[in-house]
Amino acid sequence: MLVNLNDVLKKAQQEKYGVGLFNTTDTDMLQAVIEAAEELNSPVVIGTAEVLLPAGELKLIAPSIIAAAKRAKVPVVVHYDHGLTFDRCMEALKLGFSSIMFDGSTKDYETNLKETQEIVKIAHSFGASVEGEIGHVGQASSGDESLTDMYTTPEEAYEYWTATGVDALAVAIGSAHGVYKKKPMMNLERLKEIRAKVDVPLVLHGGSGLSDDDFRNTIRDGIAKVNIFTDLCLAGKRAMKDGEEQGLEYLDVRNLKVAYMKEVVKEKMRLFGSVNKA
Ligand SMILES: [Zn+2]
Repeated sequence: MLVNLNDVLKKAQQEKYGVGLFNTTDTDMLQAVIEAAEELNSPVVIGTAEVLLPAGELKLIAPSIIAAAKRAKVPVVVHYDHGLTFDRCMEALKLGFSSIMFDGSTKDYETNLKETQEIVKIAHSFGASVEGEIGHVGQASSGDESLTDMYTTPEEAYEYWTATGVDALAVAIGSAHGVYKKKPMMNLERLKEIRAKVDVPLVLHGGSGLSDDDFRNTIRDGIAKVNIFTDLCLAGKRAMKDGEEQGLEYLDVRNLKVAYMKEVVKEKMRLFGSVNKA
């Protein structure tokens, strides 16, 4: 069933488990995520991100994700990840996304605050939830995870949360997007300080490549949603290589890809503790 972030994250925050967001660019990834969620009876967030649109056009991918969410046996949030522009966020809402992230984290604080307020007002009138970001989660390829001046501060998190009314908040505490070059260090102290200040589900971006302990610790200390994309891509690539080596035909390679990606989703759901929480 199609739900929004509030329907799944409030319970996750209370019971201290994490719900995975898995980004998709095509229906193979979509199938892998939905089947994994149904087989494990787990809530799930499925999405696409503005930077991924060249690989899967919003108008084409949105109807598939929304249809899959509606007929799923488990709660599925259809989330527009890292919305960067007002127009694209509006397009996602009109297409029926039940949730959007507005990412103004590269803008100055005041601009981010003002633009998020505007988006929240409109999204809520659609019945959609909004995730905002304060601090900035950068790219692993640039080594951004160790730039501590981009980390979220508890004071800013509190001010931003109360001023905007976001339903979930992405925080920068040592993770980054993409493939890590060196082992990232999660700042759990900072996370606990933020958690103590704000009563809103917190989101960890750049989840691919973190250790099992990183997930256990951050979920214990306040993370309720974890974003995964790169790990799905790596699983898909592995399947294509294995399929080629095994001399498989195209459709069999495709099925292998779905199976590998599904396994990654299930592994994360077990680790995040969302199994049987649907
Ligand atoms: Zn992200």
